[in-house]
Amino acid sequence: MSSQAWINLAYLAASMLFIVAFKLMTGPRTAVKGNYLGAVGMAIAIVAACFEKPVLESVAERGAWPLVLVGVAAAIGAAVGAVMALKYPMTGMPQMVALLNGFGGAASTVVAGAELWNASATARAAETPLPPWTQFAIATALTGLIGAVTFWGSLVAFGKLEELPQFKKPWTDPNRHWINLGLAAATLLVGWGVCAYPSSNLLFGLLVIVGSGLGITLTLPIGGADMPVVICLLNSYSGLAAAAAGFVIDNSVLVIAGSLVGASGLILTAIMCKAMNRSLVGVLFGGLGTTAVVSGDDVYAGKIKSAGPEEIAMVLEGADRVVIVPGYGLAVAQAQHAVRELADALEKQGKTVEYAIHPVAGRMPGHMNVLLAEADIAYEKLREMDDINPTFPETDVAIVIGANDVVNPAARNDPTSPIAGMPILDVDKARTVVVVKRSLSPGFAGIPNPLFAADNTLMYFADGKKAILDLTTALQKS
Ligand code: NDP
Repeated sequence: MSSQAWINLAYLAASMLFIVAFKLMTGPRTAVKGNYLGAVGMAIAIVAACFEKPVLESVAERGAWPLVLVGVAAAIGAAVGAVMALKYPMTGMPQMVALLNGFGGAASTVVAGAELWNASATARAAETPLPPWTQFAIATALTGLIGAVTFWGSLVAFGKLEELPQFKKPWTDPNRHWINLGLAAATLLVGWGVCAYPSSNLLFGLLVIVGSGLGITLTLPIGGADMPVVICLLNSYSGLAAAAAGFVIDNSVLVIAGSLVGASGLILTAIMCKAMNRSLVGVLFGGLGTTAVVSGDDVYAGKIKSAGPEEIAMVLEGADRVVIVPGYGLAVAQAQHAVRELADALEKQGKTVEYAIHPVAGRMPGHMNVLLAEADIAYEKLREMDDINPTFPETDVAIVIGANDVVNPAARNDPTSPIAGMPILDVDKARTVVVVKRSLSPGFAGIPNPLFAADNTLMYFADGKKAILDLTTALQKS
């Protein structure tokens, strides 16, 4: 078998590992294994790429240096990746994904630019310009454009999610749509130029500059609150840029991996939009994050009943069925282990405990599943929204920990609410609702929550972790 056949076989194995990894990553029980398989696939692809003809020719010409460079680059990348993975808290996952998307887009652009540089130098030496409208020319233009949009769009998204002062306010210049339209037209024009005159490095550079501008101006107006959806979209773009780069260098594994990321990013974007009852156009061209925070005074005045751990422990004593509803605040408070202890204590007293999981509770799909899995909470106890909603009327106590929008009955009852129509967990139908949060401040959507003022709700104002630890102690004492 020729060496190219071995390389292709390795690429096929890597692609299969990626596909299986994606499948495994769809379930919390198998996600970790999926991650490992994906990493093994990537390692196989990198090693196989080192045996590609151009690399071997370069080694023959320059000695081991090209391989040393690949090793050093991989080591730096691995070190940066490891530090980021260890340093970033779960609540910062969207930011981290934004940066990874951005790096992916930048890498694809650099690959396409380097290939074009080489090809045009060879063409100049041979005094025959590169032919127009070839796979190479079109793929190079697409990679440069999508990669640049992804890189800069992701950096802006990162800035917004990190709440860097420069990005705190969405860009609301009334001319922004015209500016975007102008830049989009410019990218089409310069992109056409790259396809028609592929020997010009200058045109490619210009395309990257205009694409960078478009990435910035498209992302700047979007409210920080809508950023996780945008990040999924940028994730999809980074995959498309990688797939296009695969066509530039004729690398099948890059085309396959890029297409997988592109498609899965789009699917995830659609799932998030559906779960938030938002249209993608609504997210991209103005929405939740850009609206002012509505005052909760009218909703809450004189109607809030607050309770402490002892009082709530007494309510729990009389309960048979308890449903725990985790939200973003649980992740902020890192209260997952405390929640597990509370559930253990309740179960010891013969009560049934289950967890209600909303598809967009937290800041990324699957956020709550990962958190609760960290505390070894059995998957069977995590019940999805459609499955658990009909059981709330038979639930004695629903304990809402750091969740807000995903339990806001205004989504169901108030057609004028910004979240009207968003599917929610019907906790308000439980006999008693205990809401654990630090204040009456709103959640991600920035709107008041009538649940807090409901007759059957007790507010337990405290940090999520401390609240649950104190509640468990009170329960064990009673
Ligand atoms: P929310 O963002 O609506 O509310 C979180 C609540 O947690 C806040 O009201 C806050 O109140 C409370 N909180 C914060 N820190 C703590 C703490 N240390 N202890 C106790 N409570 C705390 O969260 P939800 O999970 O209900 O909803 C998620 C929102 O994110 C939805 O609007 C969803 O559309 C959106 N979203 C989700 C995505 C996903 O994929 N999961 C993607 C994009 C958006 P206080 O400050 O008073 O404590």
